[in-house]
Amino acid sequence: MRDFDPSQIAFANGHFIGGEVVEGRGGDTVTVRRPSDAVAYAELPIGGADLVDRAVVNAQAAARTSGWATCPPRERARILRRWADLMEARSETLAPLEAFGSTRPIAQAGGDVVFSAECIRFCAEYADKLGGDVAATKADNLGLIISEPYGVVGAITPWNFPLIMASWKLGPALAAGNAIVLKPSELTPFSTVRLAELAIEAGMPAGIFNVVQGTGAVTGEALSRHPGIGKLSFTGSTRTGAAVMTAAAQSGMKPVTLELGGKSPQLVFADAPDLDQVAGHICQSILGNAGQACVAGSRVIVQRAVGEALLEKLKAHFAAVEPGLTWLAASTFSPIISPAQADRIDGILARSRAAGAEALVGGARFAEFTGAFYQPTIMTQANEQTPVVREEVFGPVITFQLFDEEEEGFALADHPDYGLAAGVYTGDFARGLRAMRTLQAGTVWINRYNRTGDFILPTGGYKSSGIGKDLGRQAVEANMRHKTVLIDFAS
Ligand code: NAD
Repeated sequence: MRDFDPSQIAFANGHFIGGEVVEGRGGDTVTVRRPSDAVAYAELPIGGADLVDRAVVNAQAAARTSGWATCPPRERARILRRWADLMEARSETLAPLEAFGSTRPIAQAGGDVVFSAECIRFCAEYADKLGGDVAATKADNLGLIISEPYGVVGAITPWNFPLIMASWKLGPALAAGNAIVLKPSELTPFSTVRLAELAIEAGMPAGIFNVVQGTGAVTGEALSRHPGIGKLSFTGSTRTGAAVMTAAAQSGMKPVTLELGGKSPQLVFADAPDLDQVAGHICQSILGNAGQACVAGSRVIVQRAVGEALLEKLKAHFAAVEPGLTWLAASTFSPIISPAQADRIDGILARSRAAGAEALVGGARFAEFTGAFYQPTIMTQANEQTPVVREEVFGPVITFQLFDEEEEGFALADHPDYGLAAGVYTGDFARGLRAMRTLQAGTVWINRYNRTGDFILPTGGYKSSGIGKDLGRQAVEANMRHKTVLIDFAS
């Protein structure tokens, strides 16, 4: 991908309902800014309850009449695959659209397009494979468990990987035969609309994939409460997840999938096979997207014997980071999504310093940008009570803690609230397996960190990190409900 001019990016500023862009004329708007330089570039319409209702009613009608749920499932899979092909074919325009208004550097946004397309292809393959089960019953009865779509799935996505987060919701819901109404983050709203336009081009019936734009408090809340939504799928902060779950419970008991925050440990034992590789994994996990990833490995917990050596390696990686505007091909280190989020990071670090922690490296913003770029930061002298160890920072900040015995390491790794992911580095096979059993996290990585393109592996959290799974067969199944049928043919 080449450098590009962000002022030349074309996008449709509106909702997407019934197969077309719907402009929000005259209503409330929210200003959208580019994270790299804080320049305001759009006034996004805020969809109110009426607009959300229009989208859901449209989706219900399409779910009933378009044939999406009732067509031969291979036909549904074919359209989904064609859509994925179109995403990749349009990467030259889709990747810049993703990069200019988000934290994703153009050098990485092309990969995000491919990753999103692959996710859709993976889910498409389930379209004709999850019909249900035959139950063991008396011989003159036939018991069936039939998988059926919910009708309309409501999805709400965050800003950190806009296309990828959308594809994790779209793939499973659509492959299962549902229609979907998706609200992207108001901070990164436009690439999702482009996905919807491409879906129509691929042959998806109008009204099956709809986008409503707006803030969480207005549009997200209205979507969560809409009685026409059969199931909700949310990715975002734990606090918002609780609000979504409450709204779902109060408006018809919709099932919810919640992919929430994390404070994931990276536990390094002195017998780890290759400390350079360990340092590489740690840095990739916390410097990628400037730490704005739910699975960011933000708590580094190291056995004392290799503490100093690892710290030196991490410092060298952190010092080599080159921040840059997302539209420059050479940029690899992301901006923080907004000045408000950078203020939040400042606040957590200030409270942590007041509690005795120190910034060994970093601890402030890079001064030379009008957008907010945060210095890679290593916090030491912190304990389990320190805010920077307790709270999700969502920035390029790690804490560095030492331990002596294995049990102490496992205990430090366990967070009282979060349980999204954990990394363990050890050359001792049995210790790795003990870690696998002991650590309270939805994903445990051993001698590696971060997700791969193995979409068969589901992702989701323990504790306050969430409920249910994205990806894997589990995600497609979660977008289906199950009807029990018993046929008595004795007489
Ligand atoms: P957020 O919770 O502020 O917002 C997420 C989405 O929810 C946005 O679209 C927002 O408009 C909407 N929203 C806000 N208030 C709402 C309400 N009352 N009702 C309905 N919707 C509402 O999160 P964010 O800042 O956009 O994203 C960062 C968070 O997402 C982090 O906590 C991160 O860990 C989490 N995340 C989790 C995963 C995962 O797979 N577990 C993946 C990515 C991000």
